[in-house]
Amino acid sequence: MPKPSILHRAKDFVEGTAGRRVVVSNRFPFVEFQKRFLTVRMDLSNRCNLACLVCGRSALDSHSVRASDMEWTLFQRIVREIFPKTLELFLSCTAEPLMARNFSDILRVVGKSQIPFVAFTTNGLLLNEENIQEIISAGVKEIYVSFDGATQGTFGAIRGGASIQKVMKNIRLINHIKQLHSTPTPRVELHITLMRSNIEEVEGIIEIAHSLQISRVTALHFHAFPQLNLDSESLHNHTDISDTCLERARKRAAELNVKFDCPPAFKQAKPAPTRIRPNPTKQVCVLPWTSVVIRHDGDVFPCGVWYDGEPFGNLTKSSFSEVWYGPKYQALRTEMREHKLQSVCGRCEQCCG
Ligand code: SF4
Ligand code: SF4
Repeated sequence: MPKPSILHRAKDFVEGTAGRRVVVSNRFPFVEFQKRFLTVRMDLSNRCNLACLVCGRSALDSHSVRASDMEWTLFQRIVREIFPKTLELFLSCTAEPLMARNFSDILRVVGKSQIPFVAFTTNGLLLNEENIQEIISAGVKEIYVSFDGATQGTFGAIRGGASIQKVMKNIRLINHIKQLHSTPTPRVELHITLMRSNIEEVEGIIEIAHSLQISRVTALHFHAFPQLNLDSESLHNHTDISDTCLERARKRAAELNVKFDCPPAFKQAKPAPTRIRPNPTKQVCVLPWTSVVIRHDGDVFPCGVWYDGEPFGNLTKSSFSEVWYGPKYQALRTEMREHKLQSVCGRCEQCCG
């Protein structure tokens, strides 16, 4: 068998480290990511129509800053400089995307961008016939509806008084309009933030998902931001009941043929972070090479776990290249390669991106 060339060995190394396909090129540095390699999460505004109990926006102090949308000139820079490199686009991060005043215009541009995968998370309350049609036309592939209870009491208490019936009605409306268009997309998933208040209703949420023709439910543990002062809701403090309820929910999901992604039981320990890939004896988080989070004001962070500290740059002041190859991104990549993690990465328990 011929020996692989040095370039192909470099290609294998970069692919193994960054977890993304690269191609050998005839220009320096001779190994390049494929044209579309980025996962982009961006907020279109900093608004939300709810004030949920466990919202990370409180950690960001978003409630005290002036509500505003992403400036159109900033969005155009993102379209020009970032969309051509984007493999996956999530139109939400820390705010409700349907609250953006220019959501329809943004969807029209996104629809023309040929990004292979577009999705967003929503509380589901503001979906209506008109925006569902626009979402379908833009080719959005998935919508994740935050769904934190199976009864109005629990759902409303966690989700700032929101009506569970209204959200379910809007999901049925999506199903109806998809059927009229004979399209399978956008697929709808329910996302649960697991906490003490709702852990006993997870099985019920699976049943609701089934009744709404939803085939996938994802659950993640509540991240107890210190600012929220809600340690009592963290299931790390209620491990037995958490394990019992999730086991019941897993069984019910299997019976109903609903795919249920949830954290492993506490008694099993050693949860495996999803985005950390073996390399080959060590582990490296790939997100500093593949991911960008853009806040509505242009601030850039490498992933959704960064809720504090200075941004890595701001796209109203710098080009994407200046930020992506700037000192902060380069320093983080070096820390990651050398396993000398500081700041947020040093404390990162979940690799949720
Ligand atoms: S709907 Fe989402 S963004 Fe809005 S307050 Fe609730 S958790 Fe926060
Ligand atoms: S904070 Fe966590 S997920 Fe984000 S880049 Fe660092 S290690 Fe990766």
